[in-house]
Amino acid sequence: MKKIILTGDRPTGRLHIGHYVGSLRRRVQLQNSGEYDKVLIMIADAQALTDNADNPEKVRSNILEVALDYLACGLDPSKSTLFIQSQIPELCELSFYYMNLVTVSRLQRNPTVKTEIKMRNFEANIPVGFFTYPISQAADITAFKATTVPVGEDQAPMLEQCVEIVRRFNNIYGETLVEPKILLPENQACMRLPGIDGKAKMSKSLGNCIYLSEEADELAKKVRIMYTDPNHLKVSDPGTVEGNVVFTYLDAFCRDEHFAAYLPEYANLDELKAHYRRGGLGDVKVKKLLNAILEEELAPIRERRKEFAKDPAAVYDILRKGSLDAREIAAKTLDEVRDAMQINYFK
Ligand code: ATP
Ligand code: MG
Repeated sequence: MKKIILTGDRPTGRLHIGHYVGSLRRRVQLQNSGEYDKVLIMIADAQALTDNADNPEKVRSNILEVALDYLACGLDPSKSTLFIQSQIPELCELSFYYMNLVTVSRLQRNPTVKTEIKMRNFEANIPVGFFTYPISQAADITAFKATTVPVGEDQAPMLEQCVEIVRRFNNIYGETLVEPKILLPENQACMRLPGIDGKAKMSKSLGNCIYLSEEADELAKKVRIMYTDPNHLKVSDPGTVEGNVVFTYLDAFCRDEHFAAYLPEYANLDELKAHYRRGGLGDVKVKKLLNAILEEELAPIRERRKEFAKDPAAVYDILRKGSLDAREIAAKTLDEVRDAMQINYFK
């Protein structure tokens, strides 16, 4: 069986370091590993419209922002297909058929949908499209027969629901669809990176992000105001590492060689944590280290992004070609789906 990757992002804002550690960094590695027959990366504009129907300009303008973030991070259109969801009408058709295979109560039980409905204060006014987006996400994945979906932990319930749909479809209509597997980050801190306020997952919609395109001075400012341990008032006080955002980000980004470069009195992060817990280590010093590490990681991304941003037409051309390529694959799957569902009357 072919090994196929599908993943993507909603064009609701520029991408942030949560996307980077949760999925983007991994995608670039997988793309360059040569182990996959196809890597498809989707900008999910139709999904973004499910909770931004009244704001089409936002979705439209962020297509370019997300594409620039992709290219800046090293997604390479000669190795990966970068495409726009709405340009593949087959995905709508497939979603429509999948709706018959999922119950309302099953959707209501999806914990990510539950959290997101709360987060958006929808209460009784949930758009139907938003409520059913796990179904359309299953269509996105299966239309390309994806085997591997590299995403953050918030997407686990979506993948479970997708597998259920695949099984039910194959059970009724015969083996047609491929069951995908989720590929979560290896590192616990990267599964669901918190926002700089320490409150929830870093999320475009919550405004608690460090963006990949952040300038050095904005980055430094955000690190300075970052949530730490509220009870760690004096340098001499013992501090807590758990739930302390600065340490969570260090968990996600730091390697032993960073200590040799920036803080040689410690061999590794464990030693730094031990000192913080004992007391005698101030937040400012830890934040300085984090800032240096983030700057080292983000500076080249920022510079590459500026280069690509000089030629938006070229970026749109990449997306146009990618969308044509993706559509061809989805159309083939839809042919098989229609055959299986016996709705191929004129064949
Ligand atoms: P929105 O607020 O519009 O939903 P978002 O910031 O949640 O935006 P998505 O486009 O929904 O971003 O998610 C894209 C991908 O990034 C998914 O694979 C998701 O799991 C991952 N991701 C998003 N936020 C984080 C995070 N804070 N930590 C780890 N992974 C994340
Ligand atoms: Mg999201």
